[in-house]
Amino acid sequence: MPLLRQPLLLLARSRHVKELVSTMPVSSGIVHSYVPGETTASAVDASAALVDDGLQVTLDFLGEDTVDAEHADATVAAYVELLGELARRGLSRRAEVSVKLSAVGQALPSNGHKIALENARTVCRAARNAGTTVTLDMEDHTTTDSTLAILRELRQDFPETGAVLQSALHRTEADCRALAHEGSRVRLCKGAYLEPEEVAFQDRTDIDRSYVRCLKVLLAGQGYPMIATHDPRMIQIAGTLASRYGRQRGTYEFQMLYGIRPLEQQRLAESGETVRVYLPYGTEWYGYLMRRLAERPANLSFFLKSLVSKS
Ligand code: FAD
Repeated sequence: MPLLRQPLLLLARSRHVKELVSTMPVSSGIVHSYVPGETTASAVDASAALVDDGLQVTLDFLGEDTVDAEHADATVAAYVELLGELARRGLSRRAEVSVKLSAVGQALPSNGHKIALENARTVCRAARNAGTTVTLDMEDHTTTDSTLAILRELRQDFPETGAVLQSALHRTEADCRALAHEGSRVRLCKGAYLEPEEVAFQDRTDIDRSYVRCLKVLLAGQGYPMIATHDPRMIQIAGTLASRYGRQRGTYEFQMLYGIRPLEQQRLAESGETVRVYLPYGTEWYGYLMRRLAERPANLSFFLKSLVSKS
């Protein structure tokens, strides 16, 4: 099954297959188990249910690799609407947003970096007005420098903006050191993209070892680590390291994806940990779903069945 990871991640970037698959009515089945809804209202309702269960939320309006400016503007408008709704429903203390810079202009053929910065600034302002925060998702390694540069700019006006680092990349331990300062919110994940060996560990054991080294840096540091993993070993090691470094609960948090290990999410929350669920919504679920299938190719047969039964 690991052999399927590479082709699935390549498919995640294929416009042709995306068009084919996305037109099929697969609103139920495997898509629905990872993506609770397409509209702002459905995402806010799903967030309210998680908050009622004692969890926190970060919402992602799905979309990536946007190549026209109007599309990027529409994404910004969707976030502004969402943030207004979260405030109106009294959820903004427990729900923030995650933004992919390639969805707000970073991938545009000219001035992408600048446009993404200005668009992200608009989302950060709306989040501040709503009483919540933004975390910048991390995409493939070709975007890391631009994303961290935008993060630095945004943090001048919005120091609460969160970053994401991926333990798969060789550079990440050093990036953790640079970001482990007071007030710095850093989500640590393993990394969901297909990366070349020049920049990334290829072996799962090496990625896990790097994850533990990065955890040590972040938990020993002064910032607010956001431990994003479903891996039982990493969760256990994080708990042990948090005690070793004298971390009080609430000075770090665990994060998991919507629909993945929900019982573990509950268990951790009930044990007194802060647990935040990453909740994606919208119609552009294709790339997100392909990355989830690449992590768990066992789900591929469910996906193919739902395509066949709905078409
Ligand atoms: P794995 O070793 O992949 O999985 C451990 C166990 O978790 C598996 O054995 C299985 O039981 C369960 N599991 C994992 N994936 C699935 C699945 N799809 N379906 C069902 N069960 C599963 N990546 C980025 O590159 N950039 C980001 O900005 C980013 N943000 C993230 C935010 C959050 C909150 C989380 C949880 C992940 C994020 N990721 C991001 C994805 C991350 O990089 C990994 O690809 C993903 O979390 C799988 O790695 P894992 O740590 O769960 O460990």
